[in-house]
Amino acid sequence: MKRRKFLKTSITAAASLSAFSTRAWGKQTNQNSGFFIGTPVLPEYLFDKGIANSLDAMQEMAGINTVMTFSHDHVFNQYQKNFRPKTDENGKEYTNIWGKSDPALYPNPEMGKQDPTAKYAGRDVLDELWAEAEPRKMKVYARILEPYVITGAIPGFEEFAEVDVHGEKGKNVCFNHPGYIRYWEAVIEDLVKAHPYLHGFKFGQERAGPFLAALGKNTAGTCFCEHCLKLAAERNIGIEGARKGLIELQNYGNSINAGKKPIDGNFTAFMRLLFQYPDMLKWEQFWMDSRENQRKRIYTQIKNINPNIQVGWHIDHGMTWDLMMRASWDYGKMGPYSDWLSVAVYFDSMGRRSLGHYQRNYEKILFGDADQRYSYPMYLSMLGYDPELEPTLHQHLEKDTAFSSDYVFQECSRAVKRVNGEALVYARPGFDMPGYDCNVSPSQVYEVVTKALEAGVNGLWCGREWDELKPENAVAFGNAIRDWEKKK
Ligand SMILES: [Zn+2]
Repeated sequence: MKRRKFLKTSITAAASLSAFSTRAWGKQTNQNSGFFIGTPVLPEYLFDKGIANSLDAMQEMAGINTVMTFSHDHVFNQYQKNFRPKTDENGKEYTNIWGKSDPALYPNPEMGKQDPTAKYAGRDVLDELWAEAEPRKMKVYARILEPYVITGAIPGFEEFAEVDVHGEKGKNVCFNHPGYIRYWEAVIEDLVKAHPYLHGFKFGQERAGPFLAALGKNTAGTCFCEHCLKLAAERNIGIEGARKGLIELQNYGNSINAGKKPIDGNFTAFMRLLFQYPDMLKWEQFWMDSRENQRKRIYTQIKNINPNIQVGWHIDHGMTWDLMMRASWDYGKMGPYSDWLSVAVYFDSMGRRSLGHYQRNYEKILFGDADQRYSYPMYLSMLGYDPELEPTLHQHLEKDTAFSSDYVFQECSRAVKRVNGEALVYARPGFDMPGYDCNVSPSQVYEVVTKALEAGVNGLWCGREWDELKPENAVAFGNAIRDWEKKK
């Protein structure tokens, strides 16, 4: 995931153009609207471009009433060369910790220390954001994405490594390692106590379970560390069956990828593995439950410190294209530890991203018994999308092609129905994402936002990141909500 730092035409500067201000919301027109209209924005954008200017632009263009930024962004080192932090245009590295921090709270004080030489070290983006947001009657949310890859960005993470089916240390951290659990307890305490005005917090990660990690890939299934083995035994999971099953699953996929088709067909051979090693299914759910237990701990801890903070979760874009993830990660169970859910429906990047997922797991392997002419429409159908409305496989292979507004409607509708009122559902339609050549138009954005509202969502996030958006599309986002509210 490579993120463009800034738009060539600054969205902040564009807001001052009369062409936009006449069509857009206008200053603070959203004040009487109780509807949640947020935007995620990168901390370096706020500092580089100016917080006051940015907030004015958000309000005027899209009626934004809630701004969310990273308090910690070690996660981005995972996608950078040599796992280093992101840099500005002059190559100066940004800080990974964007606010004041108390190293004494951490099991290893080095974990909570900023690099004093990094750009913007010593400043607190949330404090500075709040100083400008409060007079504008805007809310401030903090967010963190889990830096699950061991990059060296956080000292001591090597000790928390997952262990794979062969007993080798993996490249990711284990949810159940006591040291890792203590690290998050320290981060949450540090963050929440130092920022008592926070209205909300979002956490999440973009990693899925051992099942698809192993199927036809080079990575062996995890996590067989001592802590996981103890918990798995308490759940009466057959550890050796799960281990053997994950090894066989990896062999099964790799063998097909190498051109060896099972005599009985791919599907039958796959089902045979599941019948033979049912404990690997339990293992997948155990891994996912361990992931959700992390959220439960965070939720409880935040509510104990400050019950006013609205705690929500990043629902990874993969939820909209990954059938396995959907099966083990059930919206219907999240209500008791969720105030809200941020549902990623990035309709522009959905084409290439879902195509990659289909090609890696379904085209040759799980649905490999059928020709792609049949299996791709079936894949979309199983996800709940209408193959007649979405671009064809051929179109995706030709060029980046956005999914339709019906994709957004179906996925938002599924979330709203499964959550069943136990948490608020905030749709996050991503558009203008860098690296995807979809050229999304304002009318597409308007339609997508309208469809999300028709699906019954309780609020919306404007874009994946504010800095990515074309001004005219941010305006279209706001106009769709304003028009919807007028109709009510
Ligand atoms: Zn483990």
